[in-house]
Amino acid sequence: MSDPDIPDQPATKSHGRLSIRASLTPRDLMEEPLQVRDAWRAKILTLFPEAFPGVLGLSLTGKALDLGLWSLETVDLRRFGIGKHLNVDDTPAGGGAGMVLRADVLDAALQKASESTPRDRSRWPLLYLSPRGKPFTQAMARRFAAADGLTMLCGRFEGVDQRFLDHHQVEEVSLGDFVLTGGEIAATALIDATVRLLPKVLGNQASTEEESFSDGLLEHPQYTRPALWNDLAIPDVLQSGHHAEIAKWRRARSEEITKARRPDLWQAWLAARKGG
Ligand code: SAH
Repeated sequence: MSDPDIPDQPATKSHGRLSIRASLTPRDLMEEPLQVRDAWRAKILTLFPEAFPGVLGLSLTGKALDLGLWSLETVDLRRFGIGKHLNVDDTPAGGGAGMVLRADVLDAALQKASESTPRDRSRWPLLYLSPRGKPFTQAMARRFAAADGLTMLCGRFEGVDQRFLDHHQVEEVSLGDFVLTGGEIAATALIDATVRLLPKVLGNQASTEEESFSDGLLEHPQYTRPALWNDLAIPDVLQSGHHAEIAKWRRARSEEITKARRPDLWQAWLAARKGG
């Protein structure tokens, strides 16, 4: 292609370790990375592929990415833009401020992204990060982690053409009751929460079983050395070595904190306990 408006980069870009084939030259490896077999995969439709992996490339999620325990692929929406200027958006029908991402552009990008993904949405959810979506929860993270992978659309500007969402029955997920400039931060948060639930990513599975939300309560306070800091001591019971007492203390603090800070979670927890 000689059109100077078309950036010289592939439509999709993968992050994560490659399963190396002897026949691939180094150049091929850079342009056509392969996913590690059966690893959880995230596909992200975005105008800003350079936002990824971002913080997901650091610490435990980054290490897991390097080890091939999960992989990340961005699909650059700009590559599917219309005309010489590769337009991806247009003015809102009915008037008003801002721009709306075009359904035909999004559809072309999704077709490309869907070439190698299962059609069954329980195996491969299709999400749009949106302030109008269902608030993201730990339960959703567990559902996404149990899938083979997922495809996410990050919006920008005023959002996306509703017909695209309706036609593809896209599940809308919100990071919370506030408005971001784009879906990339929300997608990053969603992937982080999901990937840390994948086997072997955290190394210590028990830590995801005890943390906030896993049993419907917020986590108890944590302490570490020094035992005395600023005249403040670690609660005696935590230094007693008495495991049953420690568990009892932690449970009581969890209940106290949940009740005070999140009456909604507290009520749900009480109801679930009654029901169960
Ligand atoms: N006009 C829209 C907001 C658009 S914000 C409205 O009022 O609903 C631009 C993009 O940022 C959205 O398309 C979405 O992808 C992303 N975004 C903004 N807030 C978000 C949130 N709370 N959760 C997830 N994505 C969000």
